[in-house]
Amino acid sequence: MNTPFLLLALGATALPAATAAAADTGQQTIARAGEQASQPGPEAYFTGRVRIDPVWPAEGGIPASGSLVTFEPGARSAWHTHPAGQRLLVTSGVGLVQEWGKPVQVIRPGDVVWCPPGVKHWHGAARETAMTHLAVTGTIDGRNVEWMEKVDDAQYHAR
Ligand code: MN
Repeated sequence: MNTPFLLLALGATALPAATAAAADTGQQTIARAGEQASQPGPEAYFTGRVRIDPVWPAEGGIPASGSLVTFEPGARSAWHTHPAGQRLLVTSGVGLVQEWGKPVQVIRPGDVVWCPPGVKHWHGAARETAMTHLAVTGTIDGRNVEWMEKVDDAQYHAR
């Protein structure tokens, strides 16, 4: 699926063209704090409470969007892949990340996760601690994520 809302979910190109950061005027611009509304993580693609704060769109010669994603304790994404890959910089809290077929790993502020193109994975908060990460997600042909099944409780707690 390729809806603007879906793209927004993990940081994307769905912001209005009028956004200062998106305007390609040839001049330096500043997207002011408060200009980009926070969004809930869609229930179809996330478990638990997730907030997405858009930071920058995939425009201006850098085909990768940035979003701050905050997961409340126990919250996590569904399994998914990124066609152009993704980098995650943990900015606060304690989180979890897992590549399909590998163990769940704990991630902490300052940790940087590289999710290669096409590699199935999920990311989220620890059981009792929230986590925020900056997600920098590459876009190819207007797409930056392919959603799959949700991470069930057995998978989430398996570590
Ligand atoms: Mn991801």
